[in-house]
Amino acid sequence: MTQDHLVDLMHRLETTLDNAYSCEEAFALLDEYVELVANTEEAERVMPLVKNHLDLCPDCRDEFEILLHILKTADSNSDD
Ligand SMILES: [Zn+2]
Repeated sequence: MTQDHLVDLMHRLETTLDNAYSCEEAFALLDEYVELVANTEEAERVMPLVKNHLDLCPDCRDEFEILLHILKTADSNSDD
């Protein structure tokens, strides 16, 4: 393994840590995260990487806001 190769590998590991979740990974957990946000104060603590991704990714945050809105709307209509 050359020095360059090693540096490249370390850089890639670092990048992976920095980026945390990909959109796909965050999206897979979004339902669960939205329920945590709606029902508890614990969402950020339980799923910090999802929160982290939403802070960095406007696309996923849009999706999150939509899901949260749907969940809240469904809740308020459930007592008929
Ligand atoms: Zn995203």
